Amino acid sequence: MSGRGIIGVAILGSTGSVGEHTLDVIARHPDRFRVVALGAHRNAEKLAAQVLRFDVPYAALADGGSAGKLEEQLRSRGARTRVLGGSDALEQIAALPEVDSVMAAIVGAAGLRSTLAAARAGKRLLLANKESLVMAGPLLMQTVRSAGAILLPIDSEHNAVFQCLPRDAMPGVAPPGVKRILLTASGGPFLDTDGTRLATVTPDEACAHPNWVMGRKISVDSATLMNKGLEFIEACLLFGVPPERVEVLIHRESIVHSLVEYVDGSVLAQLGAPDMRTPIAHALAWPERVTSGVQSLDLIKVGTLRFEAPDLRRFPALGLAQEAAREGGSRPTSLNAANEVAVAAFLEGGLNFAQIPSVIESVMASTSGGEIRDLDDVLAADAEARARASFFIRPRAVHA
Ligand code: NDP
Repeated sequence: MSGRGIIGVAILGSTGSVGEHTLDVIARHPDRFRVVALGAHRNAEKLAAQVLRFDVPYAALADGGSAGKLEEQLRSRGARTRVLGGSDALEQIAALPEVDSVMAAIVGAAGLRSTLAAARAGKRLLLANKESLVMAGPLLMQTVRSAGAILLPIDSEHNAVFQCLPRDAMPGVAPPGVKRILLTASGGPFLDTDGTRLATVTPDEACAHPNWVMGRKISVDSATLMNKGLEFIEACLLFGVPPERVEVLIHRESIVHSLVEYVDGSVLAQLGAPDMRTPIAHALAWPERVTSGVQSLDLIKVGTLRFEAPDLRRFPALGLAQEAAREGGSRPTSLNAANEVAVAAFLEGGLNFAQIPSVIESVMASTSGGEIRDLDDVLAADAEARARASFFIRPRAVHA
């Protein structure tokens, strides 16, 4: 901690949905948290407003040109913030000595290097960027352990599991007595949509999540159930449980965020309103508790909590991810890369919704796995899967 017990925080991806929720929680506790650094990709305008509001000493944009614009905007307003730009800028702010906690909230593989930099620097790593864990699981977990970093999950499901585990649980090691992890999934906007209609749904329909307000990539992942697939892999890595001891339950209300079953038959769950500020506040203050601005849970109003099995026939992406988790090595890396390319193509109108899992399946069928020993192994598997996904996407017609 820096100063008089005030926690210095860096937010990577501050202009996104998780980043903004993090600033909302921090704004409620100026006596406990100080924003030391903010970083994003190219949204200079929003980042400048955040820097000015929170009087932030460091700001970074991965896009060098946008960093120049940010610098101009801040100077014209009299701010003395140090602005960094370019591909290494986010890694630099993640490792600053004034930073105690790093919120890793960049979307996709673009967050890998800065997430690893925070772990390597032994920070408290508040991990929202699930893709970095999925693509580089063994490497990231090893870096966390060897650097003595503290890993706190931000995904509401994993944060729920973390809260249901003993306080001394080690990252990547299943605590004794844990039988199963039960991950809940809202099911997304197409839970009741006929399978034949999935080829015609639009990006805006896919992004209209029934319970959560999120960025567009994770919203599409929720709609295909790939988000749950990525979280399945994430759970195995974070909590050291094999895939056969992780189960996915569709839970439409998004009130039970996940559960842990113990060998004596006890099942512990964490409940709350579907609002990311709860897991964010939990991880920011852990092991203490702070207010988050989230409404009290009114169970009488909620009334019913339903649980169902996922339909892997209509949502094959979840099955593909479960298979990658069982295969291990670089298979999750390939899966994540193929998914990112397919989702980007869908959002740009170059692929229909039902083709997203088909592209991923084709990539998985045409690549073989390998070990993940270092960053080069991760980047090689990622690049190969991206190239193959682009190859499979090119000849497809959107409504084929
Ligand atoms: P958003 O799309 O809302 O925000 C993405 C952020 O990442 C922005 O700050 C963006 O900057 C930045 N970014 C994008 N590309 C790059 C890049 N190449 N280099 C550096 N920064 C980049 O995403 P979300 O907040 O929804 O999600 C962030 C992460 O958190 C994802 O991994 C997601 O899976 C995870 N998550 C999100 C939840 C949610 O409720 N939203 C819940 C649980 C997990 P810019 O604005 O400049 O483009």
